[in-house]
Amino acid sequence: MTLSERDRSIIWHPYTQALGANPPIGIVRGEGTYLIAEDGRRYLDMISSWWVNLHGHAHPYITQKVSEQLSILEHAIFAGFTHEPAIKLAEMLLHVLPANMGRIFYSDNGSTAVEVGLKMGVQYWDNLGLKKTKIIAFRNGYHGDTFGAMAVGDRSVFTQAFHDMLFEVVFIDVPVSGHEHEAIRQLKELVSGKEDIAAFIFEPLVQGTAGMIMYKAEPLDEMLRICKANNILTIADEVMTGFGRTGKLFAMDYLENQPDIICLSKGITGGTMPLGVTACTNEIYNAFLSEDRSKALFHGHSYTANPTACAAAIASMELLLNTECQSQLLMIDNAHKAFREQIREHKIVINERSLGTILAIELNIGNGTSYFNNMRDYLYGFFLDRNILMRPLGNIIYVLPPYCVTEEQLKTTYSAIEELLDTLAQNNS
Ligand SMILES: *Cc1c(COP(=O)(O)O)cnc(C)c1O
Repeated sequence: MTLSERDRSIIWHPYTQALGANPPIGIVRGEGTYLIAEDGRRYLDMISSWWVNLHGHAHPYITQKVSEQLSILEHAIFAGFTHEPAIKLAEMLLHVLPANMGRIFYSDNGSTAVEVGLKMGVQYWDNLGLKKTKIIAFRNGYHGDTFGAMAVGDRSVFTQAFHDMLFEVVFIDVPVSGHEHEAIRQLKELVSGKEDIAAFIFEPLVQGTAGMIMYKAEPLDEMLRICKANNILTIADEVMTGFGRTGKLFAMDYLENQPDIICLSKGITGGTMPLGVTACTNEIYNAFLSEDRSKALFHGHSYTANPTACAAAIASMELLLNTECQSQLLMIDNAHKAFREQIREHKIVINERSLGTILAIELNIGNGTSYFNNMRDYLYGFFLDRNILMRPLGNIIYVLPPYCVTEEQLKTTYSAIEELLDTLAQNNS
């Protein structure tokens, strides 16, 4: 029996309506930019396996470092104990994160990194004896699938069964081009004379799941300034944007004001294993220090700071900081920009945008931007037929490649996109 057949009757897959779904593709190997299926097909992984992979699959250096770590210490409890990989990774992170970050808290995925950030942000004020519990978030945001993360994210069909159970959040518009003043006005109005707002959480510069919605650093900078002036903590969810995705190491590197809390995951281990980090300022950390034990942050996961995951993260960071990888980031950025020029005038293209390694193209195919748009299945299949893995978000197609992608592989992908645009244009006319 094939993997695909064995899977069918026993496994429940994420984000999949199993009834009527195509059988999953059995993957037997990863090799650089490629995922290799059991039937021998080689798929170009142009979404970095859900935005986690940085340096390619089964990277020899990361493999070596993880395997070395496994034979030294695979895991140890992290309450009351510590170890070299956790300390070294924290040192490296604090070296590259915005200068105001002072402490690293470990968990094991993006949603938990967000949960921890929210709990830090709310308990901070509670520890100071202030009643501030409201959270501000952007419309259309995505911060993960656990309850707190769902609460601060967009209310949609994905979350509708739980709406009564999600805590109240005040949503404001995203300061996309032409809408900066209105978004800033909404924030100003919200905070004026209010004392009960604990924190503002946002995806800096790119709202990934919403469809790679992009906005400029300047309005966000202004929003951070407003929050600081009004005693509101700011939480940057860099789970997707972190580790070079936007061209700089972190999206917040484009800003002058810095957040109080930063959430990291996805690319942190180069896509090797799960790990979450919530970084915060010393000011936040210090508010949890007390003779009163109840002021501690009572949060932790069994696999907190797993040494093997930390070893993968250290190896991935070493590769990322290499000049070779940095020039790859530039190459991808430039290739995306050149391709945008090429398709800008195409009649199927409503909008094309890119930031660093992320390219998004909004297609004029009616029906609006819905995940349940049938078009999505057509687009997914169109690229899969050409051995390219892409997962369109409604009518938005995007490319988010591992940094080891070659110019040739990008060209192959761009060609497939052009072929798609022409096919759609023909069907439309
Ligand atoms: C993916 C994502 C998350 C959730 O991370 P998981 O590891 O999937 O739980 C949170 N925030 C953002 C911005 C994301 O893109």
